[in-house]
Formats: sequence, C-alpha cells, structure tokens
Amino acid sequence: ESRLMDREENAGDGYDTALRPQTLGDFIGQQQARENLKVFIDAARARGEAMDHVLFFGPPGLGKTTLAQIVARELGVGFRATSGPVIAKAGDLAAILTNLQENDVLFIDEIHRLNPAVEEILYPAMEDFQLDLIIGDGPAARSVRIDLPKFTLVGATTRSGLITKPLRDRFGIPTRLEFYSTEELTEVVRRGARLLGLAMTEDGAREVAARSRGTPRIAGRLLRRVRDFALVAEKDTVDAVAADGALTRLAVDKLGLDLMDRRYLSCIGETYMGGPVGIETLAAALSEPRDAIEDIIEPYLMQIGLVARTPRGRILSPDGWKHLGLNPPAGTGG
Ligand code: ADP
Repeated sequence: ESRLMDREENAGDGYDTALRPQTLGDFIGQQQARENLKVFIDAARARGEAMDHVLFFGPPGLGKTTLAQIVARELGVGFRATSGPVIAKAGDLAAILTNLQENDVLFIDEIHRLNPAVEEILYPAMEDFQLDLIIGDGPAARSVRIDLPKFTLVGATTRSGLITKPLRDRFGIPTRLEFYSTEELTEVVRRGARLLGLAMTEDGAREVAARSRGTPRIAGRLLRRVRDFALVAEKDTVDAVAADGALTRLAVDKLGLDLMDRRYLSCIGETYMGGPVGIETLAAALSEPRDAIEDIIEPYLMQIGLVARTPRGRILSPDGWKHLGLNPPAGTGG
C-alpha cells in the first residue's frame, strides 16, 4: 500500500508537472518566502548578477522544487536539477558545475545527503566560484584550480538541522516553508480542478483542502483520486458530499490522516501507553525508517498538536487520545 504522501512522483500521471505553478504570481501561499524572494530576484536582475544561494527547508511536498524552478524562470536563467544522493563523487559535481552557464540556478534536492567529500568541494564553489580538484593519486597527485561561472545554488532539505553548519552558513537566503492553511489549499485545489477540467463546488474544494495535511502535493493527489471517483459515479460536479465519500473510501480521515499516521498514533497510544517513547523504539515498532517518521509523519501531527516531543520521547496529547477515540490511562495527567 503506497502512501499518498510518498515523495515519489506518481509515475506516468504527470500530475505534479501539469499543475506546477510557473511564476511567483501563480504560486499560492508561503507569502513571506515569496515576498522575500521577489526582492532578491529583482535585485539580482537589476545588477545582472547571480542571485545569492538559497536554502529551502520544510517537509516534503510544500513546494521547494517548484520554487527553485520559479526562481530560475523569474531570473531568466537556466535551471539544472540534481539531488544529494545522486552525486556520488567529487568528479560528478565538478562535471555539473563546469557545465553551468553564467548566473544559472543549480538545484540540489536532499542536499543533506551529499557525501562529505562532495560537500567539501562545494564550499569553495559556493564562496569563490572555484573548484579545487585533486588529479591522480599517490606521489603523482596534484591539485588544480578551475574557475567556475557564477551561479546560484538552491538547496532543499526537509529540516535545516540535517545539514552541516559550514554548508548552512554558505547560504545567504535560508528560507523555511510552512504548512499551508486550509484557505490556501482550497485555492490550490480550485486551481488544480480548473486545470484538470473538473467541476467542483467551493465546499468540495474545501473538503479536499482540509484533508490534505497542509501539503499541496497531497492536495493534488487527493484531487486526482476524487476525480476518479466522480467519473465512475458519473457525477459531473464534485461537492462536499462527493469529496467526503471518496476521501473516506481512500481511508483519509477527517483530519486528513492516513493509515500510516493512525498506526503511528496508536503505537504511541496503545503499545506505549501514550509515551514518552523514543524515536528509535517507534521506528522499530512500526518497521519504518526513522527518517521517514521524522520527515513525513511527525511534522504535521506535531503541527496540529496530536503529538509532542519531550526530552524523554514522543507523547500523545489529549487531542491525540481524542482522535484515537481512547481515554488516556489514569494517572498520566493526559
Ligand atoms: P517539494 O520539493 O517541497 O517536495 P514540490 O515543489 O515538488 O515540493 O511540490 C509538490 C507539488 O505540489 C508540485 O508539483 C505542485 O504541483 C504542487 N505545489 C507545490 N506548491 C504549490 C503551490 N504553492 N501552489 C500550487 N501547487 C503547488
């Protein structure tokens, strides 16, 4: 059973690319990030220089890749994309950097997963637009310095704390992306429905938005599935009742939580009596990688206050117990 919020783009459905906003004006929400970026883009354009390096951090699906593409488009420069785990060796990064055009945007997704040897050569590239490479090995090894075109590095990571301090310090524009409000996601859903040619009432759009975990990528996925249900049910307009019916059948509950979220909550609640329980223990109990729990499941559950992090581990909040339909065990004070 694949999760609705998996990072993997749904192969072949073309959804993400079809609905991806193309300009800052098209991009809904993240008002502060958008306003700041606009200033830096305008200034860089006016000077005809490369914009300073940008680090986007925040949970998957909030628009980091989309914003990186928009930055390049609004700057009127080329866009190259890669990701931390793909750049295996220093030479791979050198090949990418030496192929950039002046002022281009280079996007590195999952930049926290760069191999340390690669990260090392990124520092002088970011700072002085120079590459220091060691050629050959043993006594014949020598170092060469290559001048690079000026470029803007846009890095993306799920949490800023995942990247090393020397790397973080080299980004002039660190930008945190926040979960979207239901109002913003309603707009995302309406825009998506329009582009997909799906008739939807305001209430229908809001129902999908409210159950999208604050995340546009999930809103898009749910919208497509709701569209499938509407097609099969021969409904030509999706209202709140139709949307609710489809989402309930997809096992997305009233808060937008899916099976995995509920497994996580009931693990803390039922297996560990509400906690505190450490992240490693939870990861083992759920057979899920710790990273996935911390990046995908927990941020939203913490944002809506069902779970809290304490020095001794995760605990279920009173609202968390309520959502499970359970009473906290006596004496927990929960
Ligand atoms: P991230 O890189 O943070 O994981 P993406 O930029 O890939 O997220 O965004 C996931 C999808 O969500 C995009 O393809 C786009 O269709 C949609 N999306 C993201 N942000 C917005 C937005 N502000 N407005 C409308 N759609 C958005």
